[in-house]
Amino acid sequence: MGRVLMIGAGGVATVAAFKIAQNADVFSEFMIASRRKEKCDAIVKAIGNPNIKTAQVDADDVEQLKALFNDYKPEMVINLALPYQDLTIMDACLACGVNYLDTANYEPKDEAHFEYSWQWAYKDRFEKAGLTAILGCGFDPGVSGVYTAYAAKHHFDEIQYLDIVDCNAGNHHKSFATNFNPEINIREITQKGLYYKDGKWIETEPLEIHKPLTYPNIGPRESYLMHHEELESLVKNYPSIRQARFWMTFGQEYLTYLRVIQGIGMASIKPINYNGMEIVPLQFLKAVLPNPQDLGANYEGETSIGCRIRGMKDGKEQTYYVYNNCKHQDAYKETGMQGVSYTTGVPAMIGAMMFFKGLWKRPGVWNVEDFDPDPFMEQLNKQGLPWHEIFNGDLEL
Ligand code: NDP
Repeated sequence: MGRVLMIGAGGVATVAAFKIAQNADVFSEFMIASRRKEKCDAIVKAIGNPNIKTAQVDADDVEQLKALFNDYKPEMVINLALPYQDLTIMDACLACGVNYLDTANYEPKDEAHFEYSWQWAYKDRFEKAGLTAILGCGFDPGVSGVYTAYAAKHHFDEIQYLDIVDCNAGNHHKSFATNFNPEINIREITQKGLYYKDGKWIETEPLEIHKPLTYPNIGPRESYLMHHEELESLVKNYPSIRQARFWMTFGQEYLTYLRVIQGIGMASIKPINYNGMEIVPLQFLKAVLPNPQDLGANYEGETSIGCRIRGMKDGKEQTYYVYNNCKHQDAYKETGMQGVSYTTGVPAMIGAMMFFKGLWKRPGVWNVEDFDPDPFMEQLNKQGLPWHEIFNGDLEL
């Protein structure tokens, strides 16, 4: 039915590749391309399907991307490389008439700052070209937006308070490691916090606001308010929202390491000269930290990510909590990757499936909540990320 090209061969891409291969009725032709072809070949070997094609491409280079797209002629590109490559890949998609999906919004390499404006600026061009671009289709962003759309469609007349809560209660038995690309992850966590209240964005110091929240099957975990990209599109798409926040759990040990890393300058993205060579401290740190792809084997515990929503239905206030719990070992047994890669790679595949089934196909540049959430929610249950609902419980927020 569909010819898909995936760019990137990291943890998230590995999971998406397993899932694409499992859904061959939708994805009839599949190629994986990344900076290093051997990593793509390793994924194909792990899946055991020699029909999957592989290629080398530098996704910072629009001309290389165009040559690859013109040669393979995919209908859609799933971008699972890094946020730095979003715009070059979108440019190549426009040049070659290819549809687009990603899981993280664009970030310039030299500035730790993310927002949708750069990608939303492509809306007219995608619309005129008759091409669909689906932005932020991982778990958060991704499923968090689909959950919100589902709540708005079925359970609320007006959503007023939205809290996205992300808990990783796993233990990988390493002193310090990040669960996805260390460079992107540390840039995100060390930024100032930001949340939305009564029509304004309020900035906080990094991880300044925190409180214990109780997660299903896990218990209470200290949760920290952070800026997260989906808040930007959700408050725009649901103007009744008075307050929108994002919370993520961190252990004390993790935060101590992070403080030391920052304190000694290793989180810096400013290039320095070392023995005549220019290096970026954070990129060097990434090179010595454990690869998130290798954490799975000894990872115990589970993740729990959901939306806690308060609003009005039929003139009455009600609360709604929709969430998924994902066990790291279950993810590892199925794909060789840990739960954070799994919870991102599965929704990326489902988003592409929605496109190929014609359910999420509309010229322009869209966030996930712009589409019908129902078929996506149905697939979450079938593809390994079942969800649960609690009505009128205590949201703690
Ligand atoms: P990894 O670093 O493991 O994988 C990134 C892959 O992209 C690597 O294979 C890397 O190549 C490849 N790559 C990097 N630069 C280029 C380039 N210029 N050209 C071609 N390939 C390139 O990251 P993850 O798998 O952990 O994360 C992938 C994406 O998912 C990130 O954008 C991340 O922000 C996003 N994410 C989204 C989440 C969500 O819920 N929405 C949650 C977690 C992650 P090489 O292997 O050679 O380094």
